[in-house]
Amino acid sequence: MAEPNPEPIQRRGLLYVLSSPSGAGKSTIARMLLAAEDELTLSVSATTRPMRPGETDGKDYHFVSNDQFDAMVANGEFLEWAHVFDRRYGTLKSEVDKTLADGRDVLLDIDWQGTQQLKQVDPDIVRVFILPPSLEELESRLRGRGTDSDEVIAGRMERATAEISHWAEYDYVLINDAAEICAAKARAILEAERLRRSRRTGLVDFVRTLTG
Ligand code: 5GP
Repeated sequence: MAEPNPEPIQRRGLLYVLSSPSGAGKSTIARMLLAAEDELTLSVSATTRPMRPGETDGKDYHFVSNDQFDAMVANGEFLEWAHVFDRRYGTLKSEVDKTLADGRDVLLDIDWQGTQQLKQVDPDIVRVFILPPSLEELESRLRGRGTDSDEVIAGRMERATAEISHWAEYDYVLINDAAEICAAKARAILEAERLRRSRRTGLVDFVRTLTG
């Protein structure tokens, strides 16, 4: 996609939510979006799940203990939080606030439960759901390196189907049959949403310069 022109009109930052069943390629799309969009920052969630090899604390997640998570809930530090796969995950107000204060947009990689809660807190969020191109493709992606038992795979497929059942709660739905194309569409949504009149706080003054 051609680079958009720099946009001179001041605007409110937006919250861009990406959800999908695991195996639909959401992390790849999120990585591509972040690499292409200078004004977009990932909201780093807090989680009680253990760190995986290759992950960095503070970059992929804020990895916290159950007690720490409890304290954060009690202190009202979350915009939303939910149980996912028997662990807890939550969006920190501080992550979102600091990005919006910088005049930037926030990318949130959260599940359907978090999306529902966030919509209550801020009706202005942009919700994007990514679907796999087929069940076969999803299963082959979930099988990954082929080290998991059929039982583990069946469990993952069940969770993926449960997540997919929430597709209609989203504003936009993308089918990820090719990551590059899907990421370009995700960028197009971001560009269009940035141009919404309601978010462009500087528009009134600009139009005044035109009309006197
Ligand atoms: P993973 O453990 O594979 O990184 O993430 C598992 C799931 O948790 C993903 O579907 C991801 O979108 C979701 N998730 C990650 N962070 C949050 C969060 O802060 N809130 C909610 N509700 N879900 C999250």
